Amino acid sequence: MMIVMKQGATEEEIRAVVSRVEEVGARPHVSVGEQVTLVGAIGVDPTGRERLQELAAEPGVDRLVPISKPYKLATREITHGAESTLEIAGRRIGGGAFATIAGPCTVESYDQTVGTARLMRDLDVQFFRGGAYKPRSSPYSFQGLGQEGLEILRQAKEETGLPIVTELMDVRDVEAVCEVADVIQVGARNMQNYPLLTEIGKSGVATLIKRGLSATLEELLMAAEYVLKEGNPNVILCERGIRTYEQATRFTLDIAAVPVLKELTHLPVVVDPSHAAGRRDLVLPLSMAAAAAGADGIIVETHPEPENAVCDGPQQLRASEFGPYLRQVEAAAALAGRRPAPVTTALA
Ligand code: PEP
Ligand code: MN
Repeated sequence: MMIVMKQGATEEEIRAVVSRVEEVGARPHVSVGEQVTLVGAIGVDPTGRERLQELAAEPGVDRLVPISKPYKLATREITHGAESTLEIAGRRIGGGAFATIAGPCTVESYDQTVGTARLMRDLDVQFFRGGAYKPRSSPYSFQGLGQEGLEILRQAKEETGLPIVTELMDVRDVEAVCEVADVIQVGARNMQNYPLLTEIGKSGVATLIKRGLSATLEELLMAAEYVLKEGNPNVILCERGIRTYEQATRFTLDIAAVPVLKELTHLPVVVDPSHAAGRRDLVLPLSMAAAAAGADGIIVETHPEPENAVCDGPQQLRASEFGPYLRQVEAAAALAGRRPAPVTTALA
């Protein structure tokens, strides 16, 4: 249930509505728009819903609107159709701001990581990515440098000022990852790890949730809901390819997910062309398609020497060739009315 306040409703009137929502055992969610304030009543039961109807007659209340979707906080209904602009470590994403998140698949060494981060900073990339904990299909494959990798990411952040996006796989590592991550990545294989999502919600650190290999868009939105429900509004959704019968690409990039998600949710939507393609030569066309389809950003892998990369070498872009790639992607984003936003504040 959403309570739409009248234009010019007073603080006191909004507070009264919030208290009433609490009284019926629901969770209030206030969003202050340019024109009107909305108060969401989350988790309201049928009796509560009936009692809330009385609010329609209260001063400052315009009308009551039921929220039809099961993802009560992720739905675009709750923002009355507006997109959310997230501001994370001084970088903006969503609401017309296009963000590029780039870096290697995994942190391998200080030189490989910080060297790539410097190149990305010089190209005005918004976020630096790199995994310290890697979800590998084989338990015998390199699993990431772990704590040592996090320390290298911390140094990359210190040297370049770039905010860090890195994966959290295990609730036991929440604290360590939160020490360096500006955005916690939830990998495709963990999209439905609900205790992990809940902990991320509690941490308050921004998160990028990748669509599971065979997850529907509604399941992705429900995953986001787990984080939002804990009071953490900084959630980015990521389409990274789904599993189909097609073998020519590593996964099948679902481009339609971009406009569909943009219709269903106010949250920013980014695309990972690297894991979808599995091949370097497909990364540019997939990135341009994603940007032109209205994505709010891309998360893409790049390495100084992809042929020597410890993992995902065939799909990583050569870091020295990243500049021309980025310009073409940003030109495609401009077709959809999205541009990189200037940095608003220095990294804390
Ligand atoms: C990654 O981004 O390095 C990664 C492992 O991605 P995904 O979870 O989408 O496979
Ligand atoms: Mn990878």
